[in-house]
Amino acid sequence: MLLEKIDHLGIAVNSIAEGYKVFPLAFGIEPHKTEEVAEQRVKVAFFRVGNSNLEFMEPTSEDSPIAKFLAKRGEGIHHVCFKVSNIYEALAKLKSEGMRLIDETPRIGAENKLVAFVHPKDANGVLIELSQPQE
Ligand code: ZN
Repeated sequence: MLLEKIDHLGIAVNSIAEGYKVFPLAFGIEPHKTEEVAEQRVKVAFFRVGNSNLEFMEPTSEDSPIAKFLAKRGEGIHHVCFKVSNIYEALAKLKSEGMRLIDETPRIGAENKLVAFVHPKDANGVLIELSQPQE
């Protein structure tokens, strides 16, 4: 089984700075991790919800893909991330099915995981992230 679970939902926000009301805080859930992903020019905060996570993303620069998303669509769900057992195999499988890949080869994402994105035009309008933890 290549798809193991929904790892997280990515949510674009204008700010995750202290005091900002992201809704997990209202439930008393603190982020278990925050980090800056320089390559994507975002700050992220992860909130654990059961076996999955919410990933709030705030742009750190105007040319961040998240800044562009916010300008066009406003705050909201940006992507769905699936944990896969083998990201190379998963990408090869999707490509053989004719799906357009944003990343032909995985790159390093948040939490040092291997990640790759699939084009939303081939996935019912949903931007999909595949993620595989590294040893
Ligand atoms: Zn993500």
